[in-house]
Amino acid sequence: MGRPSPLDIYSLLDKSNCKECGYDTCMAFATGLLERKIHVKDCTHLMNDSKQAKKRNKLIKLITPPQKPVIIGTGERAVTVGGEEVLMRHQLTYYNETGIFIEIADDDPDLEQKVKYLADLTINRIGEVLQVNGIALRNVSGDKEQFKLAAKKLADVSNLPIILCCLNPDILLAAAADIKEKNPLLYAATKDTWEQIGTFAVQNNLPVAAVSTNIDELVSLSATLQQLGAKSIILDAGTYFGPGNLAVTYDNIIKLRTAAINKEDVNAGWPVMGVPAVYWAQTKVDDKKDLWRHQFEEIIMGAIMESIGTSLIIMHTGQEKDDIWALLALMTLRQSVYSDPRIYPAVDPGVYKVGEPGDMAPIFVTSNYRMTKIPVEQDLQGANIACWLLVADTEGIGIESAVAGGQFSASGIGEAVNEFKPFDNVKHRILILPGMAARISGALEDEANAFVVVGPRDSSGIPKFMDTQWKPEEFMKEYESWEKE
Ligand code: SF4
Repeated sequence: MGRPSPLDIYSLLDKSNCKECGYDTCMAFATGLLERKIHVKDCTHLMNDSKQAKKRNKLIKLITPPQKPVIIGTGERAVTVGGEEVLMRHQLTYYNETGIFIEIADDDPDLEQKVKYLADLTINRIGEVLQVNGIALRNVSGDKEQFKLAAKKLADVSNLPIILCCLNPDILLAAAADIKEKNPLLYAATKDTWEQIGTFAVQNNLPVAAVSTNIDELVSLSATLQQLGAKSIILDAGTYFGPGNLAVTYDNIIKLRTAAINKEDVNAGWPVMGVPAVYWAQTKVDDKKDLWRHQFEEIIMGAIMESIGTSLIIMHTGQEKDDIWALLALMTLRQSVYSDPRIYPAVDPGVYKVGEPGDMAPIFVTSNYRMTKIPVEQDLQGANIACWLLVADTEGIGIESAVAGGQFSASGIGEAVNEFKPFDNVKHRILILPGMAARISGALEDEANAFVVVGPRDSSGIPKFMDTQWKPEEFMKEYESWEKE
């Protein structure tokens, strides 16, 4: 079918331009809908006019991606997985990044403490907040009451989405019944348990994972669950470590995604999950000294799954504070893989204030490449350096390349000085140039009519530079004597 155009969507709208959806025109609404900024339900005409029901259903069908999205959890931490339209990010964009769930055992005495730690874990990286997406509660105890108790505790202490993991349907559904208002994912329905678990999922409108190591069986399990009425399914074809098994694991994920997106197979058209946490069940780990090596194996599996578009992964490593390195690796990789290739990585040029700068506060010059400007700003904030940041338009290119390519030039920075007037904020005319741009310092003095100091090559060196080399009064004396000549 392919991606619909705004015109395809527009043809199904009311075309009255009534503005009740918040958009000025139905055409603007059509574009917003295509970009997933709004939902069909936001058009009051389509929703309230019974005569338009046919068009509404046609529109919903038209805009539903070939791999349908599934929501786990409720409230602001609810996570949407899947819902992709393309196999490769560069073909359009990925809309929903891999959901990272951390496994915790139902008999873990530190369950509460671990859940609170994971719920609060927030990492700010280049202007984005990185977090884990939820908890996968595993029934290790084999005991129904223990599982129920742990699920209840988990739901009480945090608003993180929950996956209930237990292959015994009686135990799984007993816990699910207690916390169903939290919209947990039921993990998992198999060829032996699909009816009991599927019926419960349908009756309670809950997402359900289907598991089979045989792809054909998995797809037919999905078809059966859909016939039963299931509206949210996640597919798991198994995760296997060891020689030969890795390739099978990745191959199955790619096969499912290809069937969903390229072949538009409605039974494969659901998010795909992987469970690197099974490493610890599949491997004999008896040497604590080598713990990190085992953790590495699991993390590498998770990282590869992220990079091949797996919709959701369950990790074991990451539940302890000491494992933060593992989550950092997974979350930063995910941030890169799932960034939108249509958004140019640039920030607006201008003068940015850091802290409460005084009259003699320094002015640092940098590029408008997002990955340069934001880390520099964060380094300055982290070191409590109150200052001004003059961001020149380098067409979104980092300093080293922009100096070589001419985008970070004396004339360009001179124009930025004229346009944004950084010297109006201070009582000096000093600019601090990144060390990587030292060669344009002379020309910049002329272009900006300023005293130019060459700073460190990397913004992490700014605190030391401020301690040892920032002497504004001396610089200004030099500037004034140079001015008189
Ligand atoms: S509410 Fe519906 S009919 Fe009105 S402008 Fe929006 S899309 Fe058009």
